[in-house]
Amino acid sequence: MTLLDLGPGLVAVLAGIFGLLIGSFLNVVIYRVPKMMERQWAEECSELGGISLAQAEKFNLLTPRSRCSSCGHLIRWYENIPVFSYLFLRGKCSACATPYGVRYPLVEVVTGGLFFFCAWRWGATPTALIWCGFSAALLALAVIDWDTTLLPDDITLPLLWGGLIAAALQWNPAVDLPTALWGVVAGYLSLWGVYWAFKLATGKEGMGYGDFKLFAALGAWFGWPALVPMILMASVIGAIIGIAMKFFGGLREGGYVPFGPFLAGAGFTAMIFGPQSILKFAGL
Ligand SMILES: [Zn+2]
Repeated sequence: MTLLDLGPGLVAVLAGIFGLLIGSFLNVVIYRVPKMMERQWAEECSELGGISLAQAEKFNLLTPRSRCSSCGHLIRWYENIPVFSYLFLRGKCSACATPYGVRYPLVEVVTGGLFFFCAWRWGATPTALIWCGFSAALLALAVIDWDTTLLPDDITLPLLWGGLIAAALQWNPAVDLPTALWGVVAGYLSLWGVYWAFKLATGKEGMGYGDFKLFAALGAWFGWPALVPMILMASVIGAIIGIAMKFFGGLREGGYVPFGPFLAGAGFTAMIFGPQSILKFAGL
């Protein structure tokens, strides 16, 4: 008996449960990767200055174990079950009753939903697997960028290479390798050009290099013809949300709205409905 005998519904449900677990891991990625980057920068700066930092305690995705950020209570395994633990603990630390953000179960549920979709749409195939990987990376990037305005190379570059490799192996039926490769080139250069045009015209930086890499990665997954609809969608929704945040006073210091979450939104729309659907929504 193989996975293929289980029937598409059951495969999708299993993928959804797996997605909940991956979502739990994504919460760790979202919380720790920006802190790991800051630590690395601090180390590099101190090395440049000839000062050796006292050996800080090990900090990566696996160590130390998760603790309550308020009281330091060690999270036990049964307090770490996706969604259920949140409901069971009523969203609070079992030791100090500090509320956990609703973001944690939300990331888990969204990841589970995306994995369910991929398995339901593509069955028990390598294609479903690669789109699950795409979804997890894109979701982590969107939330990290929203929180910190950073798009870590450690996620954007594997996403980009993953897209090219998926095209080369023909696991991604949407693109062949040349279409994916030119998607990377056009995705990177187009935003790079916009960045410099904007900078020369206004003296401001409208986005960061992480945005170019993310858009290049989307080019690898959807091919160059999908870039125009995706950038249109990301820009229009980004502008609407930016204006709304300005209107309701929700803008952070410097009035900066990260672009990555909107690029990610366009990527998810393209994955679920197909890139050309974006043009149809827009009536083009
Ligand atoms: Zn606590």
